[in-house]
This record gives sequence, C-alpha cells and structure tokens, in this order.
Amino acid sequence: MMIFQIMATRIPLGISRSSNGCSTDPRLSGSGYEKCMQCGRCTASCPAAYTFDDYIPRSVMSRLALGMGDSLAEAVWRCGQCYSCRARCPRNNSVGEAVLALRERFGAEGRVPDTIKSVRSLLLNNLHSRGETFLPQMLTDKLLREFGPATYSRCAGNIEKRARLGYEKEDARACRIPDDAMEEIRHILTATGCSDTDDQK
Ligand code: SF4
Ligand code: SF4
Repeated sequence: MMIFQIMATRIPLGISRSSNGCSTDPRLSGSGYEKCMQCGRCTASCPAAYTFDDYIPRSVMSRLALGMGDSLAEAVWRCGQCYSCRARCPRNNSVGEAVLALRERFGAEGRVPDTIKSVRSLLLNNLHSRGETFLPQMLTDKLLREFGPATYSRCAGNIEKRARLGYEKEDARACRIPDDAMEEIRHILTATGCSDTDDQK
C-alpha cells in the first residue's frame, strides 16, 4: 500500500519531464503519466504485456514519473499501439501515447534495436510488393521466438496449419490486391515517406 501511495504522488522532488528526454513532445504530457495512480488496469488489458514478460505498461508510467524514461529504450518497441490501455485507464491516460513520444526520441538518437529495423524493412518491402504487412512465411521459428514464448506457442507451425486448410504460404489473403489498387498503395506509401528502400529509420 505504501508503494501505491508513493507512486500516486505527482512528480517527485527534483524530477522534471525534461529528464525523460522528450519534454517538448505533446504526446508525452498528453499521455497523462503525471496523474497515473499505478492501478495496473493498463497492464491487465495490454496484449503486449501478455505476450512479453519484460513489458509492463504501468511501469512505463512510473518510470516516466521518476524521470527514468531513458531506461525504456528496449521495452517501448513491444507496444502494439492498440490503445486498450487508453480505453481502460480510469484517469484517461494513454501508455501508447507515451510510447510514441519515446520511440521518436530513441529513433532520433539511433537507439532502435536491430530486430525492429529488420522487421520494419520487411514490412515496407511487403507493403510495396504485395500491399500486405506480414506474410505467413515471415513468421519463422527465429522471429517467433523473439516475439516471446506466448507468441511462439500460439503461432509455431502456422504455415503447416495454413497448408492443411488450403491457404498459400506466400499470401496472407484469399485473393491478391488488383494492380491499380497496388499502384495507389505504393503512391500513398511514397507520399508519406515510406519508401521501400528506406530501412534506416
Ligand atoms: S490504467 Fe491509467 S492510472 Fe492505472 S496504471 Fe495504467 S496509466 Fe496509470
Ligand atoms: S497501446 Fe501499447 S501499451 Fe497500450 S494496451 Fe496496446 S500494446 Fe499495450
């Protein structure tokens, strides 16, 4: 209970937003971390927390309140931006918004993990070539293990399961996207800065 009361306290003495390294990003203050009361509803509703043992949305907020945002450089890439945390927070906070601000900061500092870079590159490639993000054959044994034990146990052997149901392993859809729609998708991707050769961000 004592811990709970301490964490419910507003910014502790001597600690400011600037110590989190992205103080001017409106998403950080908009996330509401300063009024987080550590109830844990965000964690209970978070699919990433269910999947990854090392990702705890409630802790994202407490670390920000303590000026320890720098320690989240690995964890922030776990969030899937579903905003279940936002929907369930009794104080209308949003861990997902805080994560966006932190990701931008770590990206600008060149602190994006290699796994994230390579997944981003694969996603861009797939979007430009087929209009899809994940293709079934991307979910290799190695990648599934990196996504945590819960994902691995749920998805291992998916290609074989799809084959048994009559689906192709090269395509996540039942039918291909028409060529003219693909042209539009490529145009949107390029216009929004998502070139298929841009894999360094
Ligand atoms: S649900 Fe809201 S108040 Fe509760 S721990 Fe999460 S961010 Fe904080
Ligand atoms: S937005 Fe991120 S932190 Fe919030 S519930 Fe979804 S995965 Fe979890």
